[in-house]
Order: sequence, then structure tokens, then C-alpha cells
Amino acid sequence: MKLLLVDDNKMLIKAIGKKISDHFSCEIDLAHSYEQAKELIDLNSNEYFAALLDLCLPDAMHGEVVDYSLNKKLPSIILTGLDDDATRQRFMDKDIIDYVLKEGAECVYYIIDIIERLKRNSDTKIIVAEDSTPMRNLIKNILMAYRFQVFAAAQGAEALAYLEDNPDIKLILTDKEMPAVSGEELIKEVRSKYDKNKLGIIVLTAHGNDEVGARMLKSGANDFIQKPFSRENLICRINNSVDLLYFIEQIQNTSEQLRKSAEEDYLTKLRNRKSFFSLSDIYYSNLANDKEFAILMVDIDKFKSINDNYGHAAGDMAIVKCAKILCECVKGQDIVARFGGEEFCVLLKDIKEEDAIKMAVKIRTTMKNSSFACEGNNINFTVSIGVAFGNKNIGIEQIIKNADIALYKAKKDGRDRVETYDDN
Ligand code: GH3
Ligand code: MG
Ligand code: MG
Ligand code: MG
Repeated sequence: MKLLLVDDNKMLIKAIGKKISDHFSCEIDLAHSYEQAKELIDLNSNEYFAALLDLCLPDAMHGEVVDYSLNKKLPSIILTGLDDDATRQRFMDKDIIDYVLKEGAECVYYIIDIIERLKRNSDTKIIVAEDSTPMRNLIKNILMAYRFQVFAAAQGAEALAYLEDNPDIKLILTDKEMPAVSGEELIKEVRSKYDKNKLGIIVLTAHGNDEVGARMLKSGANDFIQKPFSRENLICRINNSVDLLYFIEQIQNTSEQLRKSAEEDYLTKLRNRKSFFSLSDIYYSNLANDKEFAILMVDIDKFKSINDNYGHAAGDMAIVKCAKILCECVKGQDIVARFGGEEFCVLLKDIKEEDAIKMAVKIRTTMKNSSFACEGNNINFTVSIGVAFGNKNIGIEQIIKNADIALYKAKKDGRDRVETYDDN
């Protein structure tokens, strides 16, 4: 990303530029006069993501640089000391992004927010469904100036086709009155597939009919805007809806991550003990009478000596290696979990006794023949495995106890071996 900053106050613009480039780690070009700015814009207008422009320059005192920048379709933010309403309004009526007052250190954070938003906009897809061509183009141009990805549709059916091809559309801005598929029908159709918290809809309603807006909200719109609207009003309402949608997305992602991390072992990314039991309970409660399963309790031998000889990090690597081998050996349907420390539990679904033993032997030999490198050391380890079998008549927890007893026997009898539970 590259930005252009134009201001004749060299000290100030250098300080602002530094803060912005530190924040975004982006390139910044500085210009101190209209002439310099024009030269840079002519050279690089396609490369600039946005321009920050002072209104009073020694060689152009009345904001000429803004028109120059806008003519080259550069997203332009005004940064000025001129705090009067008339000037502000005069420039807000042009296609500028914002009008920022040079006041204290805060203004730079405000500018950073604006640029963050522009960056986000460039990943945000919006459909504009409006049958009036001038109105459609007007809205499209405003949104494009704010760097949104715009899909302009002349009627509802076209909007639905865009949505079909781009399920990541964030917002639909639709006219209420359209031929063929109207705004209302469009809302109905979209809401049958897309949740209000995932895809926003803003309806453009005709002036002077107050109840219409409320009716649109009730039928699934997120917001409405009455025509005629000002450019600033339109963009503020769109920003509000987009902000809210991203906020909801972020919360949903966070809670999904929390849910996942509550089920996952942080080191191996395997299921943890708790999640093993909830998954194995589901399996067991749906188990057919004629089906059998097996539990393997797997424990790394003399693991403490890996920690003692090579350090805790090497111990962790052994645990990860062991988890990886277990996953590679078993079938995708089976459940592999880390129960704690260097102990793992595997549920082999729908398997006969002899095949379960074969699997345990394969795991044991694969572990023995593998090694991993840590700080110049080539480390290998063995595992002991206890195997127990179950069916619909005995609960999973009992089978795990049995597998534990078999594991204890494998340890006692010398380690690096597979033992099966024998109930005699
Ligand atoms: P055995 O052959 O009888 O299983 O002996 P062992 O040394 O493997 O088992 P023991 O239970 O004596 O020691 C396990 C050690 O594992 C003790 C504990 O400090 C260490 N440990 C537990 N969790 C972790 C972990 O996440 N990372 C590492 N590096 N060590 C762990
Ligand atoms: Mg219309
Ligand atoms: Mg051990
Ligand atoms: Mg252990």
C-alpha cells in the first residue's frame, strides 16, 4: 500500500506520515506544494491507495489539489486547519472520503481509522439494485470512491444472480420500487437463504411515506434510507451496517474459536479427554447390537527420561510426534484423543478383535521405527499399548478401565509391547 500526503507544514506532515507508515508498514510520498503533488499524482495515481490533502498550499490556496486528486479517481481525505461549515460543506459535496481537522495528536488516529476502513471496504462486496440508471450510477460512484467492490443491478433478478455467484456479498442496497422482482420480493428471497447477521439489506424508500421503512425492517431489512439522501448520510448508514456486520462476524468467529479450543488439546490439536467422551458417547448410543469396537490406551515409555535428557521442548515434540503417528495409522472415522501428559486414547470403531490387535501392533512398531530431530539430537521412543474390546453390552468407560489394566500389564512386563485385557 502506498499513500500520498500533501501539506506545506513539513514538520507536521513528516510526523503524521511516520505514524501512519509505522501503523500500516506502508510507503508514503510527501509533497509540500501543489506543483509537487501534481507531479507525484501524474506519476503514481494508480499506485496510491489514498491521498491526504491540505487545502491551503503556497501555490494553490483554495483546495485546487483536491480537484486534481479527485479527477484522477484517488480516494481523497482532506486534512485542514479550516474549521468553517461553508468550506466543509463545499468539499463534502465533492467525492471526498472525509474532512479532517488538524487538531492535536488525535487526528492521526482518526486518519488511521479512515484508512483501515478503506482497506476493509476493498474486501467488501456490495450489490446496488436500483432500476433508475442515474440513481444507480450515483450510488455506485459514491461506493466505489470509498473503495467498496460494487455490483450494480438494474433489477432484483440481476441482484439475485450476483448473489448466487458471490455468496460473500456483505450488503445489498436495494430500491423498494423495481419492475420484475421488487425490493420487497428481493428481501423475501434473500432472507430465505441468508441470515440478517451475515448479509445486510438496506432499502431505499421513496420520500414521504413513513410507515414503509418500518415495514421493510419487519420484513427482514437491516435499515432503510429515504430518498432523496445526501452523500454523507448514505455513506454513514452504509458504514454503520457494514461495521455491525463485521462486528457480529468477529464475535461469531471468537466464540467458534473458544468452542474449538475447549474441545482441543493445545499441543497436539487432538481431541481432549472431555471431547473424547462426548464423541464416544454419541458413537456408543448409536451402536448396533452386532457391532464391536476397541479402545487402545497408548503411553510413551520412559517419557520422563526424554524430558530429563533433552529438555521439556523435546518432550513436547515427542508428544506431537506420537499424536501424528496415531492419526496416520488409524482410519478417519476413529477417535484419537490426548488424555493427558504422554497418554493417548484411541477408539477404533466397528472393528474385530484380531484387526484391533493388528492395528495396535502396527502403531507400536511405527513408533519404535520413527525418530525426530531436536537441537542436533535424533530422538526415538517406544510406546506401550493396552487394548480392550467392547460392544453394546458394556459401557465405554468400563472398556477404558479395562484398556488401562492391559496398559499397566504392558508396562510391568517390560514396555514397548501390546497387551490385551483378559477378564479371567
Ligand atoms: P512409563 O514408561 O512408566 O510411562 O514412564 P514415564 O516416564 O513415561 O511416565 P511418568 O508418568 O513417570 O512421567 C511422565 C512425565 O511426563 C512427567 C511429566 O513431567 C511429563 N509431562 C506431562 N505432561 C507433559 C507435557 O505436556 N510436556 C512435557 N514435555 N512433559 C510432560
Ligand atoms: Mg425505482
Ligand atoms: Mg509414560
Ligand atoms: Mg503416563
